[in-house]
Amino acid sequence: MRKFERRDFLKAAAASAALAAAGCAGSSYKARVVVVGGGFGGATAAKYLRLWEPALEVVLVERANVFTSCPMSNLVLAGFTSMDDIRQGYDGLRRHGVQVVNDEVTAIDAAKKTLRLERGGDLSYDRLIVSPGIDFNFGEIQGYEPAMQAGKVLHAWKAGSQTIELRRQLEQMPDGGVYILSIPLAPYRCPPGPYERASVIAEYFKRSKPRSKVLVLDANPDITSKAGLFKAAWKDYYAGIIEYRGNSKAVGIEAATLTVKLEVEDVKGDVLNVVPPHGAGDIARKAGLVTTNNRWCDVDWRSMESKAVPGVHVLGDATLSAPAMPKSASMANNHAKIAAAAIVEILSGRTPAPVQVLNTCYSFVSQKEAVRVSSVHAWDEKDRTLKALPGGGVSAARSEAEGSYAWSWARNIWADTLA
Ligand SMILES: Cc1cc2nc3c(=O)[nH]c(=O)nc-3n(C[C@H](O)[C@H](O)[C@H](O)COP(=O)(O)OP(=O)(O)OC[C@H]3O[C@@H](n4cnc5c(N)ncnc54)[C@H](O)[C@@H]3O)c2cc1C
Repeated sequence: MRKFERRDFLKAAAASAALAAAGCAGSSYKARVVVVGGGFGGATAAKYLRLWEPALEVVLVERANVFTSCPMSNLVLAGFTSMDDIRQGYDGLRRHGVQVVNDEVTAIDAAKKTLRLERGGDLSYDRLIVSPGIDFNFGEIQGYEPAMQAGKVLHAWKAGSQTIELRRQLEQMPDGGVYILSIPLAPYRCPPGPYERASVIAEYFKRSKPRSKVLVLDANPDITSKAGLFKAAWKDYYAGIIEYRGNSKAVGIEAATLTVKLEVEDVKGDVLNVVPPHGAGDIARKAGLVTTNNRWCDVDWRSMESKAVPGVHVLGDATLSAPAMPKSASMANNHAKIAAAAIVEILSGRTPAPVQVLNTCYSFVSQKEAVRVSSVHAWDEKDRTLKALPGGGVSAARSEAEGSYAWSWARNIWADTLA
């Protein structure tokens, strides 16, 4: 057996200190569930585990000390809302008895049922939930990383410091400038998100620098979500401002000349917003949870348990999406409830029952008007996956009423996730 060394002792002590600081006094609990990632999936799962089984010890490990919402972050870019409006702390979860540890998980040992924290220490678990969101495959776009480090290209596809920087660059761009938004091939996080971004930034330009352009370079052949509604809004409101080009995949960035290289031509801009292809967050890869295309994690949709690593449940954008299921906050929130209910059942010696889930996703096409897409997904015993039921669909037309529902949706999901 390996000798227990001084550094092991220091690490164990650090992990205990992290838990003590998070409010874990003792271990009279039935079992410990650790959740990695306090975004829409992880935070919701932590809360609902405590609500549905108060005898569980629930530890949430999140590297950021505040939650920042991607939904509504496009409105920050357009100057229609502020970063403060899309941020909140984790005290709501603490009030539910969740122990929130502000740290980064650097490794998971599923055989030993432990995980390692960056600041030191190992945490043990009975069941693990991993909801790490996405990380980018920067290597697929030549020159991306050095250009990003030089501040010449941004993705702003994780809300936070890049959102603030992109807003700054848009404000500083002279009237008559070109803002380039490049979209990766589907599947990517939030199918309608890029088209919402193009719309609200176009409205900002129309009001504040009307000679400027939004150039959308889409790797996909056409708009991937709510296409008719976006096209109608662009024709009615942003003719001459938004130019859309399908089949335009970014393959390189030239920082010195602010150029996006496509497969057949090069395009110059003044502000480069290139969203690289992405896959499950890095910790999912390190833990052996990635099963498909070196990007996504396949799960059993009745429990969200990984098909690769038993005892570990994967949620949100990191999953290999079920047919017609988008990567959205709405879905991550539903995945969390499937997992929380299933874990309560499994730890009580029962078998989880299949469920139905609902996705609703709003997109703004101007400061006040929005459009919506909805779908219901149910377990299909034959194909052993969640499948979209007939029905659902998109708004008949854009409207201010949908815009106010969009804000209600956001406030409700933030409360359901964190309060
Ligand atoms: C611009 C934009 C607009 C969007 N608008 C909408 C919308 O209107 N409606 C909608 O439904 N969806 C929307 N989405 C999609 C939505 O944001 C995501 O689908 C959702 O955040 C996925 O939740 P998640 O839990 O999988 O990941 P996240 O919410 O990204 O959470 C992952 C968390 O894990 C943490 N983490 C990762 N690795 C570690 C580690 N090793 N240790 C500790 N912590 C770690 C991260 O810090 C992060 O907090 C939008 C996305 C974007 C980019």
